Amino acid sequence: MQHFASDNYAGICPEAMAAFTAANVGHAGAYGEDEWTRRVSDRLRALFDTDCDVYFVFNGTAANSLALASLCQSYHSVVCHELAHVQTDECGGPEFFSNGSKLLPANGENGKLTPAAVQEVISRRSDIHYPKPRVVTLTQSTEVGTVYRPDEVAAIAACARSNGLRVHMDGARFANALATLDVAPADITWRAGVDVLCFGGTKMGLPVGEAVVFFDRRLSEDFAWRCKQAGQLASKMRFLSAPWLGVLEDGAWLRHGRHANAMAQRLAAGLQQVPGAKLLFPVEANGVFCELPEAVLAGLRECGWRFYTFIGAGGARFMCGWDTKPASVDALLADVSRLSA
Ligand SMILES: *Cc1c(COP(=O)(O)O)cnc(C)c1O
Repeated sequence: MQHFASDNYAGICPEAMAAFTAANVGHAGAYGEDEWTRRVSDRLRALFDTDCDVYFVFNGTAANSLALASLCQSYHSVVCHELAHVQTDECGGPEFFSNGSKLLPANGENGKLTPAAVQEVISRRSDIHYPKPRVVTLTQSTEVGTVYRPDEVAAIAACARSNGLRVHMDGARFANALATLDVAPADITWRAGVDVLCFGGTKMGLPVGEAVVFFDRRLSEDFAWRCKQAGQLASKMRFLSAPWLGVLEDGAWLRHGRHANAMAQRLAAGLQQVPGAKLLFPVEANGVFCELPEAVLAGLRECGWRFYTFIGAGGARFMCGWDTKPASVDALLADVSRLSA
């Protein structure tokens, strides 16, 4: 049975697995001194069409926490959406690794920040008793399955820059966002004003690992030491980096992203036909948020379906992944319909 609890319930996609296995030959340099890590880093520089600095870490919490820590001093603050993963699901990691930088939650419709919301939060105080705003962090695609357009990112980044703030992007589901936007990766990142991207590998089908991509290379000074100290420097780095080669080489990452998004569209279209079901957000990536009667949710759980109801703004969250089968979506829909009848 496939589940809709999270896109990290899925296994490893074949392209990543093949590249992982292919890297398992003989001896190679440790701690990133290997040809796979060099090749993926170059591949990412080509993908983003710029001379960015690339690091690989084990998970998204570390990627976000360490990236934000590299942009902040302990007396700084980070503006984020109130539903942001950094705020709600990282156990204080960003604050811990930055030695105390405070997160300043802002609101905004559909899980998205706006320049006005950022401006409001950073204009509240400018005195010495309040942490100094230093970073804006955006999640792409967002925690509620919506997507920032390039002009939206650029407007927030312009607001950030005019106030002396850096821009960080939590791209745990960057592939899903790109699959929807169909723009060049550069257009939604550095060309729109993003300084650092945490590019999610795990949720798009890798066994483990995220890439931290610094578009402003000055910001990555000492980042390698930060990773090492945090226990995030893989000694057999090639097994963290090689799977990226597999998904990047023939565009598999976008193909999988498009598939997951299409499965979410299929699910959303089906749910719209169910009386009593109400979609909570526009479905623009691979997640569907739906309000359903308590009895239906309980019935679904009894059928064995796994899904979360604590993420975002309530309702049931159904995530689709690279391997979600149309038949699984249809089976879930059939149970929702039956229980709602
Ligand atoms: C999954 C996720 C992360 C990373 O979480 P880890 O469990 O630490 O890998 C970061 N941001 C968002 C928006 C996520 O959904």
